[in-house]
Amino acid sequence: MSAAPGSYLNKRLLRINVGFLLSEGPGNAREIPIEFAQRVEVGEDLFLRALTGQLVLTRTKEGILVQGMLNVVHERECDRCLDAFEHRFGLDVAELFASPPEANKSVFSVDSNGEIDIAPLLREEVLIEASYRAVCREDCLGLSAETGDKLRDEMEVRQDADYELDGGTEIDPRLAVLKQLLQ
Ligand SMILES: [Zn+2]
Repeated sequence: MSAAPGSYLNKRLLRINVGFLLSEGPGNAREIPIEFAQRVEVGEDLFLRALTGQLVLTRTKEGILVQGMLNVVHERECDRCLDAFEHRFGLDVAELFASPPEANKSVFSVDSNGEIDIAPLLREEVLIEASYRAVCREDCLGLSAETGDKLRDEMEVRQDADYELDGGTEIDPRLAVLKQLLQ
């Protein structure tokens, strides 16, 4: 279960008006910046931490061709340690939104308001990406097969040991000098 999303941008913002482009005729194109630096809803079951990039919309005979690269930040579980982490990946978009709608050309289409909705397309692509394994970091050690606890590398264990020493009865030699000076 993912955490309650809190505040987020509504997925309605992922609708793009392309009416002007449809009336311009084939060959015309527009660059559309995508700048969502905060949590955005992509589907009822899917929220992204951020979505940025640029799309190029090109009017073709069949409708509107949407192309571009989007940078996605998706919070998900690490496949090794099961901790939540921010998975960042690039999404290559190349999809025709048919106009008029034609099921045999594309499942996506320009609606009667002259808008395209890229939310269902994004949801589909992100869920495909999320079905692949991903880890919170390359050297994540995962969980112990015996205890089920999260494994830590030597460095982390040593740092913790140092910390315990500092907080324990032994006085840091540098502090011992300071203590002598104060006396
Ligand atoms: Zn991990």
